[in-house]
Amino acid sequence: MAEYLGVEVRIAPNDPISREFLEHAGAHRFVTQRCRDCELLQYPPGTACEHCTSSNFEWTELSGRGTIYSYQLVEHPIHPAYRERVPYPVVLVELDEQRGLPVPEYALRVMATLVDTEGKPERAAAVAIGKRVIVDFTDLGDGLGLPVFRLSDEPPEFEPWSFPLA
Ligand SMILES: [Zn+2]
Repeated sequence: MAEYLGVEVRIAPNDPISREFLEHAGAHRFVTQRCRDCELLQYPPGTACEHCTSSNFEWTELSGRGTIYSYQLVEHPIHPAYRERVPYPVVLVELDEQRGLPVPEYALRVMATLVDTEGKPERAAAVAIGKRVIVDFTDLGDGLGLPVFRLSDEPPEFEPWSFPLA
């Protein structure tokens, strides 16, 4: 049985796209869909291309490198499984691939948790907009995995900024 924080991971039988995505992550490959018709990437994976509505996709592996575009510190667990994890950061990562395409404002942005090298939630004081991150994986069992991010050693493109901590 696949599980996350002790909770069973259920994938609907009519959702093969999510299953394939999590299977790639289980093999430690961070992938998304490339449209064979317009050649653009989209994330999250879905049934139709958000750029041209085609459903003609192939999986493509991503570098897993990006920048924290925004983040939130979750203080209140919305599920008992998260009780021991709070406070934990959820980050919106802007991936390096396809930044500014097809329009300057567009980018592939991924919501994920930010963890340290042991897989525990990263310290709140270490999280900041602009910091560079790299993908990592949490194994869920049953061949499935979940992409997460951790801080990388790469220098930021601009001076990182964080919300003042209370
Ligand atoms: Zn397309």
